[in-house]
Amino acid sequence: MSKKLEFSLEFFPPATAEGVEKLRGVRTELAALGPEFISVTYGAGGSTRDRTLEVVREIRAAGIDAAPHLSCIGSTQASIRDHLAEFREMGVKRIVALRGDLPSGMADPGEFRYANELVEFIRKETGEEFFLEVASYPEVHPQARSYEADLKAFVNKVNAGANSSITQYFYNADAYFTFCDAAREAGVRIPIVPGIMPIASFSKLARFSESCGAEIPQWMRRKFEGFGDDAESVRAFGLDVVTGLCERLIAGGAPSLHFYTLNQTALTRELCQRLGLA
Ligand code: FAD
Repeated sequence: MSKKLEFSLEFFPPATAEGVEKLRGVRTELAALGPEFISVTYGAGGSTRDRTLEVVREIRAAGIDAAPHLSCIGSTQASIRDHLAEFREMGVKRIVALRGDLPSGMADPGEFRYANELVEFIRKETGEEFFLEVASYPEVHPQARSYEADLKAFVNKVNAGANSSITQYFYNADAYFTFCDAAREAGVRIPIVPGIMPIASFSKLARFSESCGAEIPQWMRRKFEGFGDDAESVRAFGLDVVTGLCERLIAGGAPSLHFYTLNQTALTRELCQRLGLA
């Protein structure tokens, strides 16, 4: 019998007490599906530092592997060193290592320019203690000079010691397969795990996609626009599209899937069930 594909989940640290309480319920429900780990995002410039760690602590206390994201832009080596010590104390084994984006109003980029420098620093400070995930961009990071330059930036992160990668979300499976082929050709051997964004609201998705450089194909855009305020049709079509995407990715050899849950249960659970991952 073939082994069931692994999957992981992503949460963000809520800003309110209600959000924290709600996330506990989401975590309990989604934990029942058996994720390999749950990662927790980190606000620009360290703005969610304590909240990220609190969510990580709770996930770990529930017996699930939790991976804090850690961004380096605007940070000093000393502050990253403190973070690593805190992670060690908490028993964290996996970190999602990122550059991040400088928050508006913050001018000092700190002591790290790019994520490969963070990976290199973590390896220098802690050896092989942590399993390091890095970001990758099948549709190219919006600030990259070119496709080739962005691929080179990814290869630099891998050569600095990354163990695995999670991609930005995308809806075009060919972009993922082309990126994987190019990475393999450039000598990359680590897993490149597709990041999957379920679609709850088309207008929110469209806005967010503009800033992060993810493309919404024209046929999908037109179809969503046609639904107007009909949330049920948006949900049903979004689920079908994302299920189809995941099926193609799995059939094409994706090593696992990482779901951007947006701290919601229903869509991720439904996708996992449809795909037979739960
Ligand atoms: P890098 O890999 O450093 O790349 C950033 C840009 O610099 C790219 O355009 C790259 O091509 C370019 N570049 C790299 N090296 C060089 C070089 N030597 N010379 C010139 N250009 C170079 N953001 C958050 O704030 N918090 C989070 O928790 C978070 N989690 C994320 C999780 C995933 C899986 C992904 C895909 C993204 C996440 N982000 C998060 C967003 C991320 O921080 C942004 O996309 C950020 O702009 C880039 O971070 P990076 O680690 O990919 O940077």
